[in-house]
Amino acid sequence: MATATGTFPLRLVDGRRLERRYRDVLLPGGILCDHEGQARVLPRYFYEIESWKQASETYLAPHFAASEFIHTDVREAPALRVFPRYIPCATVLVALALELFRDAVGTYVYIGANGGYCSPRHARVGGASPHCWGTAANIYRVGDTYLDSHESISRYAAIIHDVIPTVWTRPLGPLLARTDDHLHLDLGYVVSVPRDAGGETYNLKLAGDPL
Ligand SMILES: [Zn+2]
Repeated sequence: MATATGTFPLRLVDGRRLERRYRDVLLPGGILCDHEGQARVLPRYFYEIESWKQASETYLAPHFAASEFIHTDVREAPALRVFPRYIPCATVLVALALELFRDAVGTYVYIGANGGYCSPRHARVGGASPHCWGTAANIYRVGDTYLDSHESISRYAAIIHDVIPTVWTRPLGPLLARTDDHLHLDLGYVVSVPRDAGGETYNLKLAGDPL
């Protein structure tokens, strides 16, 4: 299974077969509950990134390199602050969404620190954040405009909703789970299983054991 697809250089890995120190923080195929207490199944398959060089040279979409989705700080789990790093396969989908957004605004789109993939063990993650699925992005700047006002955030939120009608953007405001210094968008709890992935076992008992 550990083969690159076509010319895509990142190795596809089954998170349940990674070393324990990674499984403990990626929780592949595990469960997180959202704020309403509903269970959401986490991604199991990831792309492995060997180095910053590889991250910055590997494009998930024409203008979005893998490196833009792994800017995390000390709040990320220690095992994921060094290489190899892992991103859920669905990160490619949010990169494509951002590419459509970039086309619509006709300028650069900047993702903030901790604004791409965050593991379920990231200190800022409470509950089932789509950042743990790799399907969310926090945009803090579009071209020369910083998204630090309700006016600018609303304007760009309207554009992304035009381009992708099913996208979710975080409501404005200073309260918990709201935003006033970036535009959070996500595609929901999307799990991507590339064709090269190993697949699930039919034995449910075995499926409960990571390895
Ligand atoms: Zn966010």
